[in-house]
Amino acid sequence: MKLILLGAPGAGKGTVAKVLTSIDGSVQISTGDILRGAVQAGTELGKEAQGYMDRGDLVPDSLIMGIMESRLQEDDCANGFLLDGFPRTIPQAEALSLLLDKLNIKLDMVVDIDVPRDVIFDRLCTRRTCENTDCQAIYNIKSMPPKVEGKCDKCGSAIVQRADETEEAIGHRLDTYNEKTAPLAGFYDKLGLKKTITGTSSEAVVAAIRAELGI
Ligand code: AMP
Repeated sequence: MKLILLGAPGAGKGTVAKVLTSIDGSVQISTGDILRGAVQAGTELGKEAQGYMDRGDLVPDSLIMGIMESRLQEDDCANGFLLDGFPRTIPQAEALSLLLDKLNIKLDMVVDIDVPRDVIFDRLCTRRTCENTDCQAIYNIKSMPPKVEGKCDKCGSAIVQRADETEEAIGHRLDTYNEKTAPLAGFYDKLGLKKTITGTSSEAVVAAIRAELGI
């Protein structure tokens, strides 16, 4: 499948993507994960991106398009992909349309996962992430704690609160989403690709996507 997952930070895009990739071998491409990997590895990209990320601001479109142009041409995308956290602005969406045309790729659907702001706020404040950038497993201290407190079930590394998941940064990220990313729903609606799915459980969202795609 070739999907874009839209939705505010904390809407469950990553969780939904992980389940869907296991169905048909498509890959999850999360620009947030790629950027956090670059920050931790101390690459030039990471150095450029870190300040924006810590403040909860978007990284400049040009940096993101550079990442995506090469990522979408890697071999593992041949079975399909789920774009998680990209595109985030109208210019990124326009650049992506040109890129997909150039690569002769057609999207199946753009899923807009709609979750109330108070649910998202609570989820993000209690979310914890494995600090190992090769893992980046997600936990929630209320609803999905790790088996051993503070330790990742999968790789044993420490689980931490991301710098951009303090209350202040979360509020700012949600405002940025409303201002810059929410307009993408209209952009893809006009292209006849958008499907809005309202749901606070990732199982329900996955089931609705499968029903839409007939898989
Ligand atoms: P995420 O894990 O998707 O919430 O992304 C974490 C942070 O990475 C965001 O708050 C942005 O600073 C940056 N980021 C991720 N994806 C993008 C994107 N497509 N455009 C701009 N910035 C991004």
